[in-house]
Amino acid sequence: MRFQSTRDSQLTAGFGEALAQGLAPDGGLYAPAEWPHVQAGSFSLRDTLAATGAKLLAPFAAGDELARSLPQITAEAFDFPAPVVALGSDGRLAVLELFHGPTAAFKDFGARFLAACLGRLRGPAAHPLTILVATSGDTGGAVAAAFHGRPGIEVAVLFPKGLVSPTQQRQLTCWGGNVRSFAVRGTFDDCQHLVKQAFLDRDWQEERPLSSANSINLGRLLPQTVYYAAASLAVFRRHGERASFVVPSGNLGNAVACLWARRLGLPIAEVVLAHNANRTVPDFLDTGDWRPRTSIATLASAMDVGNPSNIERLRALYPQLSEIRSAVSAYTIDDDAIRTRIRTGYQELGQVWCPHTATAAEAYARLPAERRDSGRWVLVSTAHPAKFREIVEPLIGRPVAVPESLAKLFARPAEFAEIDADLASFRDALTDGRASEVSQRG
Ligand SMILES: *Cc1c(COP(=O)(O)O)cnc(C)c1O
Repeated sequence: MRFQSTRDSQLTAGFGEALAQGLAPDGGLYAPAEWPHVQAGSFSLRDTLAATGAKLLAPFAAGDELARSLPQITAEAFDFPAPVVALGSDGRLAVLELFHGPTAAFKDFGARFLAACLGRLRGPAAHPLTILVATSGDTGGAVAAAFHGRPGIEVAVLFPKGLVSPTQQRQLTCWGGNVRSFAVRGTFDDCQHLVKQAFLDRDWQEERPLSSANSINLGRLLPQTVYYAAASLAVFRRHGERASFVVPSGNLGNAVACLWARRLGLPIAEVVLAHNANRTVPDFLDTGDWRPRTSIATLASAMDVGNPSNIERLRALYPQLSEIRSAVSAYTIDDDAIRTRIRTGYQELGQVWCPHTATAAEAYARLPAERRDSGRWVLVSTAHPAKFREIVEPLIGRPVAVPESLAKLFARPAEFAEIDADLASFRDALTDGRASEVSQRG
């Protein structure tokens, strides 16, 4: 299959090529040029997540050098579960837990798939590839974990200084080796802008080949369709009804993956986007004006995005505003409502939710009752609450148990360099080596 740029549809690339490039040469994002239709019947109850992934993604890799390794790639990437856990007594509500991977957030799925693919595309003798990743929290950790120790690949993680939680920062800066971390004096949008600028800089690209591991990379998004496939098929088998998803959204990668899964023919009904106070997308649906803005800091910090990149993929999928409006609905949830929902989720359902998951739970609570009652709703839980224990523990009044994978990361020493939010500073820091590096121990 070919993938086309969201800007110039004549610009196309094959699967491996699109993954290696990250961003299309015109600055657009790659999206499938066609939509194979999957038959629910071709999946079986006994399929593991990895097997579901190999079947679902086969048409996209068809004809590419990676096609033959796809079953090994999905086996390597999806080696932890994504259970759908029923909530409450009426059985109409469930949570899709996407936080059982090595860094306890859904981004492990995409990052591990991309790493498994790029690791196979790079022959042993190739120039080292530098993966740039801008992160508002979870991406950097997931990408660092997925690529750490892979030969022929270097990773540069950029995060906004002071705007990620202490727990988040630990897992962005604890790697060393082929992974380097940069605290940017600016916002997440500045970090994302730096990555895009670096890509469009031809000299730089020639000197050291770059790729992106943000959700602008197709290799992050496509694998995310797999857990929507598995979850919707599980609901459909159990209840004979299509599943509706509430997706905590920032850069819109996870939401687009859900919409792609629906376009592929999976049994998915409604898709509701739960945004924090960064309300660019809900406002766009209301007014029809796309007005990106500076991101503001919220409790659900991994969704603090004022200019979501994947809007380009949403608009490519639904060119008319009226189509977008019927494809999705969106809610804005402020910090007070997030706090209250974390508390009530614990008191009423015994659930300990991270702030992002609580945003989805609150959006669900705001749906008109008839939509709630007539659907099979699945709240997408994007991170383990232990990653946000500074926020969650005071609200529920008890400690949150830390999963073993995270505890191991927290025990490692931290190291990062601080840079200004401009391309020259970044370039210097990356090429100068480690002279200016700030070290934090303990
Ligand atoms: C990244 C992230 C989100 C937002 O996902 P997008 O694909 O950027 O919309 C939500 N929750 C958590 C925990 C995240 O890490």
